Amino acid sequence: MSAGQPADALSESGSQSDVAALVPVIRRFVHSRVSNEAVADDIVQETLVRMLAAAGRVEPGMVEPYAIITARNLIASMWKEQERHRRNQHRIVDLRSPESPDEGLLQQEDKGAVAEALERLSERDRRTLMAHEVAGQDTQSLAGELGVTAGAVAAQLNRSRARLRVEYLLALEPGTALTDRCRPVLFALSGGDRRRQREVDAARHLLECDLCEKLSQPLLERGQRSDGEVRIRIRADADIVLARQTAREVAARLEFSRTDLTVIATAVSEIARNVVRFTDGGEVVVELLEEPRRGVRIVARDTGPGIADVEAALVDGYSTYHGLGLGLPGARRLMDEFAVVSEMGRGTTVTMTKWRQEG
Ligand SMILES: [Zn+2]
Repeated sequence: MSAGQPADALSESGSQSDVAALVPVIRRFVHSRVSNEAVADDIVQETLVRMLAAAGRVEPGMVEPYAIITARNLIASMWKEQERHRRNQHRIVDLRSPESPDEGLLQQEDKGAVAEALERLSERDRRTLMAHEVAGQDTQSLAGELGVTAGAVAAQLNRSRARLRVEYLLALEPGTALTDRCRPVLFALSGGDRRRQREVDAARHLLECDLCEKLSQPLLERGQRSDGEVRIRIRADADIVLARQTAREVAARLEFSRTDLTVIATAVSEIARNVVRFTDGGEVVVELLEEPRRGVRIVARDTGPGIADVEAALVDGYSTYHGLGLGLPGARRLMDEFAVVSEMGRGTTVTMTKWRQEG
């Protein structure tokens, strides 16, 4: 903020650029105290994120001191975390997505949430999980104690971890009202159990429930690494770009030709644009198919008004729609397989696939 500017003139954009101006100060502070370059960068970024979130509530003269306090607290909680690592209890915390540094820092702040989440497990699940994760007891020996097979112990541990992740995330959202569908949906997502996800109609619930939508991100970001599926929320134009880039990146893993990558990205653009234009929002899921044939499948779901006449909507030039897309015929031409399911008043799901040309 320039000198002499009145304090109450801290505009939205003004406050953000003020925060950006803090970067050198924060960097100096953090890098003088944290030797690991990557960790220091994470802390600087996390400090900025928090400053942006707080910018409207901090008076201008407080911005710099507050940034320093924030960075110092983050460093302190990191040290506490390292101390805990030495006690080998970190393994419980590592059950959640450890790859995201920002999230990791946030999580470290709220250790109470771990305890609270553990409380929500059954006595048996909790004891087994603690014995395995904290005391390091192996599944074979646990199986002997519990009188079941090692496989059954492993399955129980997986279920417990999936529940723990959900309960942990819920514990960080105190006072939020849950519907009776939230936990079943979140458990199904956390466990990566697709059959169960269909049974509880998780996809629809995520479009309707803000809380689960939010929590699904950390839960699914874990999953997407293992099963090659990426989910992008579609709300605004920027999401179209993200969906297009993501589809291209995911498809590139199967070494599609450059032309095919462009084709796929364009089709994703078209259907994502429809979601933004004609509905309140939706999602695009990009999934790699490996067996029996290699390809990429894109599913776009929205909770829009639906398409009355799908056949007509797929004809070029069709334009008298209620919330259906101009881009559908174009996307259909670009992809190998294309299906639209629409329900009036409920929304539309477009599923399209591009196969990799082998040989
Ligand atoms: Zn919910």
